[in-house]
Amino acid sequence: MEFNIALLRGDGIGPEIVDSAVAVLEKIGEKFGHKFSFTPYLIGGSAIDATGKPLPEETVKGCLESDSVLLGAVGGPKWDNLPGDCRPEKALLGIRAALELFTNLRPAKLYKALKDECPLRPDIAAGGFDLMMVRELTGGIYFGERGRREGKYGEEAYDTECYSKMEIERIARVAFETARKRRKNVISIDKANVLESSRLWRATVHEIAKEYPDVDCTDMLVDNAAMQLVKNPGQFDVVVTSNMFGDILSDEASQITGSIGMLPSASLGSSKRGMYEPIHGSAPDIAGQNKANPIATILSAAMMLRYSFDLDKEADAIETAVDSFLEAGYRTADLIGSTDAKPLSTTEVTEKILELL
Ligand code: NAD
Repeated sequence: MEFNIALLRGDGIGPEIVDSAVAVLEKIGEKFGHKFSFTPYLIGGSAIDATGKPLPEETVKGCLESDSVLLGAVGGPKWDNLPGDCRPEKALLGIRAALELFTNLRPAKLYKALKDECPLRPDIAAGGFDLMMVRELTGGIYFGERGRREGKYGEEAYDTECYSKMEIERIARVAFETARKRRKNVISIDKANVLESSRLWRATVHEIAKEYPDVDCTDMLVDNAAMQLVKNPGQFDVVVTSNMFGDILSDEASQITGSIGMLPSASLGSSKRGMYEPIHGSAPDIAGQNKANPIATILSAAMMLRYSFDLDKEADAIETAVDSFLEAGYRTADLIGSTDAKPLSTTEVTEKILELL
């Protein structure tokens, strides 16, 4: 099969880690008989330097014409003093809106080989976990009506949580479809004991659950979910939740894996095209030093194969190679922790993973 991928290398370590993922995709193409074409576009600080804008129209057009988008990271101290609307990070909201990406998929997995990096108690870490956070990305309180007004106690500010049935239905379907590719279990997180928007959320998720009788579905209140994530993370397979609850819980879930350089993500809309990127930033402190861990970006490419191109075998091959890499004791500087392993450079990690594929 043939796929056209838009590459948004971005700033800082972005170009180094995206190039690693491209090498891995090319090897997958050779091994499984696919042709991946890559077209680079500017985004973030490098786009500001070249065009004066963080998200040039040509980038948006190129992404809309692609089968999927692979992004490194944007931002850095060079652009930190620009006004909010001209900053590199503004491009991220712009590209998500242009591609109509309403779902964020954030896996959080504790690799057996990295369990000593997990900040949880050893007996909890020993159980391991592998969960997928499905976060609604374009609705809820971050986009609801807001303002300032005079209230009972003087000046006050308000933000509004609002979800339509349609928005809940479509994110619930993503969660159930995702669960079908995994362990067939969905936990829906809300605050239905207090919030009306959560009561509509819960009722709607239950309706959609009837379309997926092969998938188990339960509800959990968000305060309990925050506790359960550190107490018994192994109980979660797919978690579906609103924009703000997902924002907070997905960061909590990523922290308990103990390794920021290992975590991929996907943003999806109603078409097969998605945008795939590591959860970390542009790491300006190590940019250009061949030190960055490229695994989060390589695993983001694996997610692209699985969720946009339906190439499950190919995605499995990448994930297995990453497992074998860690099991063999190889580490990057961010994963050294208490081990005495010699840290591998970005290019050395890429070569090892290519060998293991
Ligand atoms: P960061 O994630 O870039 O870095 C935090 C720490 O983790 C740093 O010490 C860094 O060296 C380390 N780190 C991150 N990724 C790593 C990797 N792959 N391998 C090894 N070490 C890694 O977060 P920050 O320092 O808060 O932000 C730096 C810049 O990135 C800022 O301009 C910020 O706005 C931007 N940012 C961009 C995105 C994005 O593009 N999606 C996300 C977050 C932050």
